[in-house]
Formats: sequence, structure tokens, C-alpha cells
Amino acid sequence: MSNQWELLILDDDPEIVEELSDFLDMAGYRCHGATTAQQAQELLASRPGIGIMIVDLCMPSENGLDFIRRQRRERHDARLLEAILLTGHSGEEQIIEALRLGVADYQKKPVDVDALLHAVSRAEQRLNDRRRARAREHQVNELQAQVVRDPLTGLFNRRYLQETLERELARIQRERSVLSVVLLDADHFKSINDRYGHSAGDLMLQTFARVLQCGSRKADVACRYGGEEFAVIMAGANAEEAKQRAEEWRQAIENLEVAYESTRLSMTFSAGIASYPAHGASGPALLRAADDALYAAKAQGRNRICLAEPPQTPA
Ligand code: GH3
Ligand code: MG
Ligand code: MG
Repeated sequence: MSNQWELLILDDDPEIVEELSDFLDMAGYRCHGATTAQQAQELLASRPGIGIMIVDLCMPSENGLDFIRRQRRERHDARLLEAILLTGHSGEEQIIEALRLGVADYQKKPVDVDALLHAVSRAEQRLNDRRRARAREHQVNELQAQVVRDPLTGLFNRRYLQETLERELARIQRERSVLSVVLLDADHFKSINDRYGHSAGDLMLQTFARVLQCGSRKADVACRYGGEEFAVIMAGANAEEAKQRAEEWRQAIENLEVAYESTRLSMTFSAGIASYPAHGASGPALLRAADDALYAAKAQGRNRICLAEPPQTPA
């Protein structure tokens, strides 16, 4: 059975390259030999399967440490590249430097091939451990993504919004910047469900979410706040800027017609906006102020956007 990681052997002495390649080949490894840094570089670029490089410290073209350092810097996934250094008798300082670079193993010349084989198998073990850890990390990230998303719309959920709002507020306060919270609520949404059915309502919520997402910027966090209610955090936007942007959404939604069965559905929304520092300094205070403004927008006839009132100052 062949081993999964391929090996690169870089030494300016072709005899050493050949000897080590033959030996490691026999031990079941797929080896690629190079006698210059240039050749080694090309092999690394064209062979993504290479996970372990065995590098001579003293070479006329480029010092082995410099070569390793360069690979660590340039390689897309440097964590999945192990290095074993071949050193002469001297070079204690360079060995320390190598350890600092993350070279976990070195072998003194003349190379004891059995010791080298052990070093290779230890490197392999580390690569496998790292790869497994990475797969686990990936799994955890996937699960976390599911926990913070609303399944119907794919937007973030309410819990994520609340946590993010706290975190963003802290950052915005440190940076003495501004932040707005926009609460949007579909108008007379119940009547869509009542007239066309629940799946028509679902389709409209998904459409609503898509409009928000398409009009979002990188700094925005858009979420499904509740049933037919959405919220967007706009970091860096004051109330007026947030209102302008919400106004674009309002027009986009108002003008949208969604084909559903043999009919075309349309809807509008109302929104309330509160900003830090104008309308509050905490997450709950901002959400409350935005909700009051949303209520005012509903009361004034819907399909409109209202800004929060500045907090009452005691007389
Ligand atoms: P208003 O303009 O005052 O906001 O009126 P409204 O009808 O939108 O508000 P109301 O709170 O009376 O009704 C909200 C409706 O949204 C009721 C509920 O069934 C519906 N809804 C909530 N979540 C979902 C959902 O996931 N899918 C569908 N289809 N409907 C939902
Ligand atoms: Mg509503
Ligand atoms: Mg509502």
C-alpha cells in the first residue's frame, strides 16, 4: 500500500538525492528529487500531494532555511507542509532558527536512513493529526452556521443579531463611530396568508429576505427578527444614511411582483430606525427605540420609514 503524502527531497548533491529517494521509495513513499531550489519550487507548485520536504541546509543556490521560510510564506496552505532539515556537523544556531520556523525535525549528515524514516513517519503523523483537526473544525463551523441561520430565508436569526449588535456596539464605541438598527415589518402580511395560503406567505418572506441581502453591504448584518419582521444592523451608518438605504429597499419591495401559481403577489413594509449614539447606547435600548419608530410608521399609514425620537432628557 502506498503512503498518502508525497515527499520532496532537495539537496545540491545528486547522489544524496538518489540514495534517499531510492530508500524512501522502497519504504513505500512517492518521492520527488530536486538539486536546486528552483526545481524544488516547481515541484511544489505542480504537486499538491507533497506534504513533507526534506531539505539540505547548505546549498550553493539557496540556504535550506531560506527555502523553507519562503515556502511557509508563499504556500497557500503552509500548515500542511512539514519540513525535515539535513544539517552538517556545525550549525547549532541554524538548528535553533529552524525550530523557530516550525521545522520539527532535523537529521545530521551523513544521513542515517532508518532515523530519517522515523522522522518522515512522525511528520506524517503530524500532518494527519492536523488534517483531522481541520476536518473537525470545518464540521463545527458548519454546525455553528446552522445554529445562527433562519432556515426559511437563510438570513441570520434573532439570537445572532442580538449578540452581533452587542459586539458591534462595543467596537463602534471604541472607534467613536456610528451604527444604525433598522427594523422592518411586512404590512398586512396576515392577509397574504389568508388569501393565498401559507406557502405564498413563505415565498414572500424569502423574497423579502433576498431583497435585503442583495442590497446589503459588507458591514451590514441582516436577520429574520421574527415571523414577518426583519432587522438590519448597519455599522458605520447614521440615521439619515440608514433611512436612505431603507428607502431603496422600500421602493424595491413596493415595485416587486412575485409570480405565484396563476397570480402575482406584491407587498409593502414599514420600518423604524434607531441609531447609536443619537437614540440609545445599548442593544436593547436601540431595538426598543427602533420598534417604537416602527410602530409610528404603522400608525401613520404603513409603507413608510420613521426615525426614532431622540431620548427624553429630564427637565
Ligand atoms: P401589520 O401591517 O400591522 O404588521 O399587519 P400584519 O398582518 O403584518 O401583522 P400581524 O402581526 O397581525 O400578522 C403577522 C402574520 O405573519 C401572522 C403570521 O401568521 C404570519 N407569519 C409569521 N411567520 C410566518 C411564516 O414563517 N410564514 C408565513 N407564511 N407567515 C408567517
Ligand atoms: Mg406585519
Ligand atoms: Mg409583525
